[in-house]
Amino acid sequence: MIVLNLQTGRAAAKINLAIDVLRKRPDGYHDVKMIMQSVELYDTVTVKAVKGDIKVTSNTGGIPLGKENIAYKAAEYLKLKYNVKEGVQINIDKAIPVAAGLAGGSTDAALTLKLLNKLWNLRLSVNEIFEAGKKLGSDVPFCIQGGTALAEGLGEKLTLLPGIPDCLILLAKPALSISTKEVYEGLILEDVKERPDIMSIIKHINERNLEGIAANMCNVLETSTIKKYPQIEDLKKKFREHGALGSMMSGSGPTVFGLFRDAESAYNAYDYIKGMVSEIFVVKPGNRNRDF
Ligand code: ATP
Repeated sequence: MIVLNLQTGRAAAKINLAIDVLRKRPDGYHDVKMIMQSVELYDTVTVKAVKGDIKVTSNTGGIPLGKENIAYKAAEYLKLKYNVKEGVQINIDKAIPVAAGLAGGSTDAALTLKLLNKLWNLRLSVNEIFEAGKKLGSDVPFCIQGGTALAEGLGEKLTLLPGIPDCLILLAKPALSISTKEVYEGLILEDVKERPDIMSIIKHINERNLEGIAANMCNVLETSTIKKYPQIEDLKKKFREHGALGSMMSGSGPTVFGLFRDAESAYNAYDYIKGMVSEIFVVKPGNRNRDF
């Protein structure tokens, strides 16, 4: 194997500060309206030019390493579309919990596109990278951009928002693995009692009002996930009893997060909750990516 070149970078996880599901489309997908927020919890992705095909390696056995890996799909898409003759070895050093509602796969794919653009000297524009991202998954375009954004359509239509005020975010993943597909299939829109007021959250983001953001967080996917896994509701309550300004399930779950004004309250809650979940992190909100 001849190593020609190497590129590496960090791929940030995301949380959702709000998720509304507007309607089920005739093709089975759902139109959504979400507020996305990057967080400083990262996988490290490294791409090496090699002769031959695409290979994926990882520090964890918890993700597929073949064609089903979304970073593999990102490489395969670029290779076919731009007629690339070289192969690539993609190593994913995973820190983001898998199947957790934190867009771990999407962010690996987003970074892989950017790294391969450099490695293979493709000279793709930002728009061409976004177009490739849309083909791979609806969270991929946001992961390419990062920061704070309103996401509409399937999640791929992005409007950049100002960053949220400085705070700490406690992320806690119960020992459950939840399939996004199942959550959407189990969602009965008529049963949804509470919907997020997205405009109000955007107003609080613009006014840099952390309490206002926290008080308005709402995720309609909780309707179907919590019905099946009531421990998620208990966890949300515990966050609030231990100083969170607001707590919510991220994405289709099961990760629950809380916003905290300061480190003392975040770490108090961390100490209380750590024995109840399989993975737990205190992180800061992430900024918009400027790496491409
Ligand atoms: P989202 O928040 O975008 O719905 P998620 O955080 O719930 O995503 P992922 O961690 O992306 O979920 O994993 C979803 C599925 O994708 C897993 O079952 C996993 O096997 C598969 N997968 C494929 N490639 C990857 C990857 N690079 N990292 C993590 N999971 C991957």
